[in-house]
Amino acid sequence: MDKNKQLHEAISAADRIVILTGAGVSVPSGIPDYRSKDGLYAGKHNPEYLLSETCLQTEPDVFYEFVTQNLYYPNAKPNLIHTKMAELGEKKAVTIITQNIDGLHEAAGSKSVINFHGSLYHCYCEKCGQDANPEDYLRSDTHQNCGGRLRPDVVLYGEGISEAAIQGSIEALRAAELVLIVGTSFKVSPFCNLIDFKRAEAPVFAVNKEPIFLSQPFTMIQDDARFVFADI
Ligand SMILES: [Zn+2]
Repeated sequence: MDKNKQLHEAISAADRIVILTGAGVSVPSGIPDYRSKDGLYAGKHNPEYLLSETCLQTEPDVFYEFVTQNLYYPNAKPNLIHTKMAELGEKKAVTIITQNIDGLHEAAGSKSVINFHGSLYHCYCEKCGQDANPEDYLRSDTHQNCGGRLRPDVVLYGEGISEAAIQGSIEALRAAELVLIVGTSFKVSPFCNLIDFKRAEAPVFAVNKEPIFLSQPFTMIQDDARFVFADI
């Protein structure tokens, strides 16, 4: 049977679905996949440093300039993949666990989203802890109320994943009857280790332009997720 047809049947048969997503889902919205473009930042600093807690603390101006000029795409819109996943969430108990920090799953209307690496569109003040609008952060990283420093609630190099994100992800995978891996090479740990928490009997499908590798059986659909999700 055709793999796309197998995917459709698996989706029809499952009530609780976990979708694990990565940068490939946001590329059609005009957001580049930084990992595949390391050369872009060749120069004085590497992107791992520029996105590190060390950089934020020791060179906050360098961090601010890099993050606001390279990571924010406030005009980006959800694409067909985001909207199809949100529509699926209207009919089934879908939990999306994403590595993306662009907020586009939520913008598409998905209700159950775990931003595993945080979100650029949730900002807060390091000093007083108050939430801040991303628009305010994009104007200045100084908190008007207290003079403290604003930052996005994203997981930087050197920082740990939030306990709530880890626990929520594990619970969702333990309950899932079907797991989809979409638009990710699935190599970044601990995100890629989440798959170990799924039920043995829950089938896994991966949709990605490049093949991915798992230590357990799964169905690989090597294609553009836009084509695969078009008729879901
Ligand atoms: Zn403050």
